Amino acid sequence: MPTTIFEEMSALARVTGAINLGQGFPDGPGPADLLQAAADAVLTGSNQYPPSMGLAETRRAVAAHYQAHQDLDLQADDVLITSGATEAIAAALLAVISPGDEVILFEPTYDAYLPLVLRAGGVPRFVTLRPPHWRLAIEDVAAVVGPRARAIVFNNPMNPTARAFDRTELAALAALCVAHDLVAICDEVWEHVLFDNRRHPPLFAFEGMAERTIKIGSAGKIFALTGWKIGFVLARPRLLGPLARAHQFLTFSTPPNLQAAVAFGLGKPPATFDAIRADLQRSRDRLTDALAAGGFAVLPSEGTYFLCVDLAASGVAGTDREVCGRWVREAGVAAIPLSAFYASGHAPGVLVRLCFAKADAVLDEAAERLIQWCRAAS
Ligand code: GLN
Repeated sequence: MPTTIFEEMSALARVTGAINLGQGFPDGPGPADLLQAAADAVLTGSNQYPPSMGLAETRRAVAAHYQAHQDLDLQADDVLITSGATEAIAAALLAVISPGDEVILFEPTYDAYLPLVLRAGGVPRFVTLRPPHWRLAIEDVAAVVGPRARAIVFNNPMNPTARAFDRTELAALAALCVAHDLVAICDEVWEHVLFDNRRHPPLFAFEGMAERTIKIGSAGKIFALTGWKIGFVLARPRLLGPLARAHQFLTFSTPPNLQAAVAFGLGKPPATFDAIRADLQRSRDRLTDALAAGGFAVLPSEGTYFLCVDLAASGVAGTDREVCGRWVREAGVAAIPLSAFYASGHAPGVLVRLCFAKADAVLDEAAERLIQWCRAAS
């Protein structure tokens, strides 16, 4: 298996000293009160194995959080704490997929999904979404559902497209899952990072979906603490039971002190989450405006830490990988080529992804470098 594009570009950024707008992580220290809660828990709490399912207080806090924010009727018993959302996705696939089962994936596909589906013995069936709108056409999904179809992996809001699917698309997807008895593995790590007054509609809440949805979230994304690697799974016992069995032999459990701090964070008032969103929206607008003013064709970003730039429409020649290679070395900016998220290596369009979860000065400098590079290159 190749090294992930995130590690590859971050390594290049480290070597070259480039501004890293590739791998998606914020450059701030994170919320001071959560850091303090974690430090307190290290010094005064237990540092031994917590229960494999997660600390009781954290499981309760996760259930209460989704009750408050998404009106989901879930209890602590419906929650498993994992070592990041990636582990949750791995455990979900190991629990649900038997060799030969077909798994529907949407392209561009977040990089962990395909290798994990293959290792679980699954057979991928791809549905390709197209820029600039990345709409989910249900007839395209229906076209790949065969008798061996077992599950879909659905990322909403979607990385790397920055698309937040709407209720019409979700309702059609839910109806298809019910009609074909599919399990929906919903990677919703970006559910709080939504812009322009959008609210996240979890697929779990659609008719017939509660019994067949594995909903996955991430404290790292919610609180801008990506290194903490605290994920959560919400599912009814029929699905959560086997998933927890897979989790016990992947990581078994997750650092208790970080779990304690996350429990505290999830209970913070709604204004906290609104403020995080507003701040990221401002950063999105800042980078979008700076790049657009310099002649770049920037695609809309409805959520996530990312925006995409259409290189061909921006008048930049070369493949996305070639341009990312040149940008990191010549312009001093790391980006992610979207072709990395296609099994064939070919994307419909020449696009790169940039992370805007950075300080204003960093975004301004990165945009300036890219604009200057284009001027010099043309
Ligand atoms: N989710 C992060 C991104 O999209 C990458 C995480 C990782 O490197 N594994 O950039």
